[in-house]
Amino acid sequence: MAGIELRDVSKRWGKFTGVDRFDLTIRDREFLVLLGPSGCGKTTTMRMIAGLEEATEGDIIIGGRRVNDLDPKDRDIAMVFQSYALYPNMSVYENIRFPLKIRKVPAAEHEARVRRAATMVELTEFLDRRPSELSGGQRQRVALARAIVRQPAVFLMDEPLSNLDAKLRVSTRAQIKNLSHELKVTTIYVTHDQIEAMTLADRVVVMKRGLIQQVGTPTEIYDRPANTFVASFIGNPAMNLMNGTITDGVFQADNVRIPGLDAIDGPVTLGFRAEDAAVAPVGQIAAPVYTMELLGDATMITVRAGGALVAVKAAKDFRVAIDDRVDIAVPPGICHLFDSTTGERLY
Ligand code: ATP
Repeated sequence: MAGIELRDVSKRWGKFTGVDRFDLTIRDREFLVLLGPSGCGKTTTMRMIAGLEEATEGDIIIGGRRVNDLDPKDRDIAMVFQSYALYPNMSVYENIRFPLKIRKVPAAEHEARVRRAATMVELTEFLDRRPSELSGGQRQRVALARAIVRQPAVFLMDEPLSNLDAKLRVSTRAQIKNLSHELKVTTIYVTHDQIEAMTLADRVVVMKRGLIQQVGTPTEIYDRPANTFVASFIGNPAMNLMNGTITDGVFQADNVRIPGLDAIDGPVTLGFRAEDAAVAPVGQIAAPVYTMELLGDATMITVRAGGALVAVKAAKDFRVAIDDRVDIAVPPGICHLFDSTTGERLY
C-alpha cells in the first residue's frame, strides 16, 4: 500500500512561496498528473515528495508513514527525469542493474529482474549496447527500466518525455500508460503538456503560481473547468472566452447575442469550446473572419467577437475568406459561465 497524503504542504524561500498549502490524498496505484505552466510549483511539489527539497510546512505521508524527516533513499520511491543521466561507460544491462547493486539486492535475483524490466520497455535486444549507441527514445526507456527494476512503491516522473521528438513522445507516452497499468504502482507525473495529462492521468491537478486550481479526472476538468485559468489551459485550442453582459437571460457582447441562458443578470465571462460550436446559416455569433487554418480533419475558423478571437471547428472542406462574415451556432447548452472578476465558474 503506498497512497500518498500531502497535508497543507508549503514551500517558501524567504518571502516567496513556491508551493502554497498543497493538500491532496493520492490513492494507492493512482496515476496522478501535476499540470501547469512553467514555474507553477510542479517540480517543487515532486521534489518535496522525493525528499530532495524540505517542506517548509505540512506533512508528507507515504504508505501511512510521515516521511518529512526520512532521507530520499529511505522513501521507497523511484524517479525518472527529463535528463535521464545514464552511465555512459556501462552497458544498458549494467545501467538497469545499477539500483539493485546499490540497494544490495542479492546477486542471484539481478538477471531475472533486469530482463523483466527490459522486456517491459522493449529493450531486450539492446542490453549489450552503450547509451551512446541508442536513440533518445531508447535511452529514456533505459531510464524507465532502471526505475522499474527497483519495484518501488511510488514512481515520480518529471517531464520524462520532453527531450523526445513528437512521434517518440506519443509512442513512449503510450508505453508509460501501459506500464503503469501493468506495474500497479502509485505514480506522480509532472508535465506542462495538457495532452500528456489528459491521456495518462487517472486524475489531474492543475496548478498556477503554487496553488492548486482544480483536481479531477481528465473528463471532469475538460467538461467543467473550475475557473477561466483551467478553461484556457485544457483543450486544444483553448476554450473561447468572451466578456459581456447578461440581461434577462441574454448574453451580449460585440457581434454576439446568445439568448436562453439560465443565469443572473450582470457582467460575465462566457466560454465555449471550438469543437462544440458550428458554422451555421444563422448563429448567435455573426462576425468577420480573422484566420482560417486547415487541420486535415477539420478547418479551424477564427473570428473577432466579444472583444476576443473566437475559434470554431468547421468541416474539413469549409472555405471562407478573411474578413468575410460567418455565423456561428453557439446554443446556450454549450456555454460555460465564469465570474468576470474572479474567473471562478458560476454554475
Ligand atoms: P517548470 O515547468 O518550468 O519546471 P515548475 O512548475 O516545475 O516549472 P518549480 O520548479 O516547482 O516550477 O518552481 C516553482 C517556483 O519556485 C518558481 O517560481 C521558481 O522560480 C521557484 N523556485 C524554485 N526553486 C527555487 C529556489 N531554490 N529558490 C527560490 N525559488 C525557487
